[in-house]
Amino acid sequence: MSKPPPIQAVKGMNDILPPASAGWEWFEARVREQMARFAYRNVRTPILEHTALFVRGIGEVTDIVEKEMYSFEDRADKHGQAEHLSMRPEGTAALVRAVIEHKLLYDGGKRLFYMGPMFRREKPQRGRYRQFHQVGVEALGFAGPELDAEVILLAVALWRELGIKNWRLELNSLGQPEERREHRAALVAYFEAHQDQLDEDSQRRLHGNPLRILDSKNPAMQALIEGAPRMIDYLGEASRQHFEAVQAMLAANGVEWRINPRLVRGLDYYNLTVFEFITDSLGAQGTICGGGRYDYLVEQIGGKPTPAVGWALGVERVLELRREEGGQAPEAAPEAYAVIPDAAALPVAMRCLQTLRGHGVAVQMHASAGGEGMGSMKSQFKRADGSGARFALIFGADELAAGEVTLKALRDGTGAQTRQPLAEVAAWASTLKSTA
Ligand code: ATP
Ligand code: MG
Repeated sequence: MSKPPPIQAVKGMNDILPPASAGWEWFEARVREQMARFAYRNVRTPILEHTALFVRGIGEVTDIVEKEMYSFEDRADKHGQAEHLSMRPEGTAALVRAVIEHKLLYDGGKRLFYMGPMFRREKPQRGRYRQFHQVGVEALGFAGPELDAEVILLAVALWRELGIKNWRLELNSLGQPEERREHRAALVAYFEAHQDQLDEDSQRRLHGNPLRILDSKNPAMQALIEGAPRMIDYLGEASRQHFEAVQAMLAANGVEWRINPRLVRGLDYYNLTVFEFITDSLGAQGTICGGGRYDYLVEQIGGKPTPAVGWALGVERVLELRREEGGQAPEAAPEAYAVIPDAAALPVAMRCLQTLRGHGVAVQMHASAGGEGMGSMKSQFKRADGSGARFALIFGADELAAGEVTLKALRDGTGAQTRQPLAEVAAWASTLKSTA
């Protein structure tokens, strides 16, 4: 029989394996810690949603909805009706859907966060994948600039905890819809006057969504975009005050920023403050986190008018930035490795390990790789060293006859050994713990 060819992962979708996965777990723990410190609570929504949610929530004339979504028609039900479903390309629309569906705002504003995989059919390259991961925060039901500042400060606190230094913050204000309309008219007039310089995407967006032309990554378009009318010059008094208040709160917290009047963000639903955290260390994919206010989205998805502000960060990019800056991957070593010379000792040894784990000790059991017996002592100690454990627990025949186990230090250079009674694990378990 011929061996079938191996099956590989889908293009642009990555396996996250040890030891790198330990870095992911460490990152996720830091995220949870920061969210708790800011009193943001976790929300988990399904990967699949009705396609209509994203069309409505993200906007029809966006890269995501036009060409990046993984969408399909589900099998027909007994009435012959098939649902149009999409894998979520971002987290906000789904979170807002869940908040409306479950009436989460009945007793006031909510501070929420999510993390998980997102899916976009983009051209895979460094920092751009088809399955990637986001952490996002959304504060719903709060209209004031202090929440814009709070979510930005949350990100800043996270960078500090992660040890990431090479970032800058860019801010802009997109104003309110009526202000946008005026700006939009000026934009359309400007781009119409330079229609010959517009690329194909921009031609299409000119009347559908001209603001998005400002978001074009086409280098040939940049000079034209530089000269375009700036939204910031169209802000009314209230919008300007909101923007200034955000900046005053950032300044009071020692956060620096740069105003970028071309910053519009890829999604349609933003108003007032928009921002991005950008790094120069990752090449073209330099935006590690982006967000802003979206006071009209909840209504657009079918809820009561509700102000909201949030951001999403790209986990792959943040982790790569941390590596670029020399951040060490945390160790994922057990505290002890059980050396078991003879299989006859397994039942007693396993019972001891189980008790140790119950006392919070991380222990790895030596196991036979096949063939006869457990393997030589030499090969078992080699495994113990390779595991990174600080102690070997030796369950030899001598030890067991005495109702004991030997603890041998592997890492402090002494090789010191002690014997401990199997019947009194509670008394010595803590000597194995790295925190002890
Ligand atoms: P970009 O301009 O880089 O395409 P975006 O504006 O489409 O980003 P958002 O939808 O705001 O990105 O998503 C928030 C963050 O998620 C981005 O700042 C980025 O860090 C990350 N991100 C977005 N798309 C991808 C992707 N395909 N692969 C990896 N990370 C991504
Ligand atoms: Mg994009």
